[in-house]
Amino acid sequence: MFELIGLAIAVSAIVALARGRGASTVLFGVISVVGWVVIRYGALFVVRSEDGVLLAMIGAWAWLGAIALYLRFVVGAKMPKPDGKWNCSSCNYLNERSSVICEACQTPYQPKASAADAG
Ligand SMILES: [Zn+2]
Repeated sequence: MFELIGLAIAVSAIVALARGRGASTVLFGVISVVGWVVIRYGALFVVRSEDGVLLAMIGAWAWLGAIALYLRFVVGAKMPKPDGKWNCSSCNYLNERSSVICEACQTPYQPKASAADAG
């Protein structure tokens, strides 16, 4: 039961990260859950031992960690990087540093230097 709560928290964090990096939230949400279930429970059919259960558990969480790292450092890596939390120029939503597009309206992050020539 605690494991499922942990999974729900981890997947919602991954979905938020995917949204902020401009990736598909549905795609990464599904990949996270399906991969976790397949590794966590599928492995039990292959390795039937105490060690197998532990390895399946570690593998399932490592899977979520790998997806989070992929989203954080590979997806959207070529876009301008915020120095910290930033306000969206379009809707003023306060975004996390890890987001390269606005989590609320999907407007890409723009470095402050180029915002001065508005007048
Ligand atoms: Zn916005």
